[in-house]
Amino acid sequence: MVTWFRTGRASAACVLVCAALLLFQQVGYFAEWGSPEFRTLVTDVTYVPLALAFTVLAVRVAVSKRQEPRTRRAWRVITIAFVCQLAAHCAWAVQSHILLTTAYPSTADYCFLLFSPFMFAGLLMLPGQHRRRRDRQKLALDALIVGAGGFIAIWYLLLGPILNAPGLTPLQRTFTAALPIGDLLLVLAVSTAMLRRHQPEVPAPIRLLAGAIALTVTADVSYSWIQLNGGFTGGSWPDLLWLAGCFLLVLAADQQYRRPRHPRPRRRDRNAVFLLPYAASVAAYVLLAVQSSHLPINPYGGMILGSAVLTLLVMARQSHALRDNREMAVTDGLTGLANRILVTERLDMLAGQPVRPGRHSAVLLIDLDRFKPINDTFGHEAGDAVLVAAADAMRRVIRDGDLAGRLGGDEFAVLLQSLPDREAAGSIAARLLEELRQPVIFGEHVLMVEASIGVAIRDDPDASGETLLQQADTALYAAKRAGRGRFEYYSDVMDTKARESELRRAVAQDELVVYFQPAVALATGELRAVEALVRWNHPVRGLLGPGEFIELAEETGAVVPLGAWVLRAACREAAGWRTGIPGAGPLRLAVNLSPKQVAQADLVTTVEAILTETGFPPDRLTLEITESVILQPDPLTISRLQALRDLGIQLAVDDFGTGYSALSYLRRLPVTMLKIDRSFVTGIADDPEARSVCEAVVHLGEAFKMNVVAEGIETADQATALIDMGCVIGQGFFFHRPLPPDEARALVKQQFAALT
Ligand code: C2E
Ligand code: MG
Ligand code: MG
Repeated sequence: MVTWFRTGRASAACVLVCAALLLFQQVGYFAEWGSPEFRTLVTDVTYVPLALAFTVLAVRVAVSKRQEPRTRRAWRVITIAFVCQLAAHCAWAVQSHILLTTAYPSTADYCFLLFSPFMFAGLLMLPGQHRRRRDRQKLALDALIVGAGGFIAIWYLLLGPILNAPGLTPLQRTFTAALPIGDLLLVLAVSTAMLRRHQPEVPAPIRLLAGAIALTVTADVSYSWIQLNGGFTGGSWPDLLWLAGCFLLVLAADQQYRRPRHPRPRRRDRNAVFLLPYAASVAAYVLLAVQSSHLPINPYGGMILGSAVLTLLVMARQSHALRDNREMAVTDGLTGLANRILVTERLDMLAGQPVRPGRHSAVLLIDLDRFKPINDTFGHEAGDAVLVAAADAMRRVIRDGDLAGRLGGDEFAVLLQSLPDREAAGSIAARLLEELRQPVIFGEHVLMVEASIGVAIRDDPDASGETLLQQADTALYAAKRAGRGRFEYYSDVMDTKARESELRRAVAQDELVVYFQPAVALATGELRAVEALVRWNHPVRGLLGPGEFIELAEETGAVVPLGAWVLRAACREAAGWRTGIPGAGPLRLAVNLSPKQVAQADLVTTVEAILTETGFPPDRLTLEITESVILQPDPLTISRLQALRDLGIQLAVDDFGTGYSALSYLRRLPVTMLKIDRSFVTGIADDPEARSVCEAVVHLGEAFKMNVVAEGIETADQATALIDMGCVIGQGFFFHRPLPPDEARALVKQQFAALT
């Protein structure tokens, strides 16, 4: 039972029953079921289960270990307030329908009154955001403003009339006044609870509590007013508000229990709650204006108008102060330009606008050349003078509506909008360079600075502000590399440079991984060789296949260190298998060589050194070259390949049949193996042409005494067709996919350990 009580289903059931009861009561009320006495009875009785429900749910929050200790403590006090309400509703039902007393104030009234101070304390105890002292003072002021607005309303509606009401005993007078004062406390506490949470947004339980209190306060005020003007009978309309308020209390307790201990942080948005104090002030003045409309213009009219104007002026003054504060927060203290915060904000705004033809926007990233030596030689004051002069230069060049900002150190950004064409950004950059070249006089020194500028034009509507800044940064580095004191437009080619350096870094930092794809004897499926295939474990993009970077590596030459890395890693791994797994000796290792690697003068020494370093035997290694290498082999290439052969290394032609291999070259090259390209193997079962190419390659292999390996075998039919042709070895997903090192090792172990 206790366990069930803690489940979400228990509270869902509770909420559903309460909703059904409330619905029943409201329908009965509006459809005027039965006699008025019956409806009153139903209404008064409905309170009891609702109050019982919110009390029980609140107890559950107050004892739940899932809640933060401070929340738990606050909810303990809120639970006491709820108990007071429960007692009040029970007492009311008993006194109205069993004892039939109409005494005022009654036991129920006292219990109702007790609800306010406990609720007040509980709400104030709820944990808020961590705040500085000044923020707390501001919060208190805001809450007091709301409280003062509420006080004016309550004074007008109740307190004033109560003081003048005839025929009340002192106790009744005090009690009738105490109820709205208690409500005022509630308004004060709930606005504090909401205001202190306005960033991030007010949590659901507090919003529900606020709603419940708003309904309860409205009902209380109406109740006191009705008591003052003739006497309240149960079942009238304030009851509807109270009941709805009770239901919100049920929901609030339920939501609080469901709330995780550390709620997910929400987006940092300005919340409309910060308008609460302003709304309260305006409402108070509206009330005053309505109430005083019959008063003589002299002296009240002018005075009230004057007060309203004064308040509005103070509010306006405050908004100026707020703007000053904001300006201070987004301005660079030294240069008076925008700081990084504002630049980032405006950049995001710029990136969010639609791209329109004929109206371009651009980001300029400016870095002062040789700023550091000035700072080091002449001191920070000289450095500051240079930065201030640079900021002045920027102000002279940019137009209204554009933004210049300092991102930090000697780095500046300029955001340009509504440019007629791309070239306009370049001419502004050129003018900036010109202005920045002006010498800076510092004491008796004449300081000369220059700048480099990267220009990124916004062409891609999907590019984020951050991307634009990165592009400008890439262009800035290009400008620096090209000799400084100049500007460069960003282009994709530069991106290639960026990606290249990223790739080189990946090789240096061991972000690459070698996978191994087994090649098997087609007839038996026995493991014969493994081919090393590189992967890039990219820190952001995840595991990348060679298709995503080999071409770039090829173009930029990064494939040379990359290839050496792969060869070393593969040989080291395979050498480990040889020593660790008895019987693994005959297993061959194939590694791909790029045409760029083959063209390197030191290819042979590199390969030799790696073999020596890793202890992998040369006669177990196959190097795969592509047809483009053998298409027009120059004598040097041939001699290098021959030197590899002399070491005992086998040479294979990869993807055979896809290029323009001429048979004459095949004869002249020291090649020992042909790998039939996957494109022919794929069509072998149903495309006669593909089938005849495969047959031709197998026969060619026989004629030249070369091994033939079929690549990319995906089905049993393909394997059978290849066996029928006399092809001995094959490789493909039908047998094995490329495997990560540990799985490859396990496979080798399984195959060879069984043989010994
Ligand atoms: P490749 O040397 O011809 O390698 C065979 C490629 O075919 C591998 O793709 C392999 O995963 C894939 N493959 C194997 N069997 C099947 C199959 O049954 N079906 C299909 N659809 N694909 C199959 P991967 O690993 O993406 O490598 C692609 C190419 O990248 C390689 O073609 C090779 O040219 C190049 N490459 C890979 N690693 C290196 C390296 O370390 N150095 C150099 N220079 N190039 C490499
Ligand atoms: Mg290959
Ligand atoms: Mg291939």
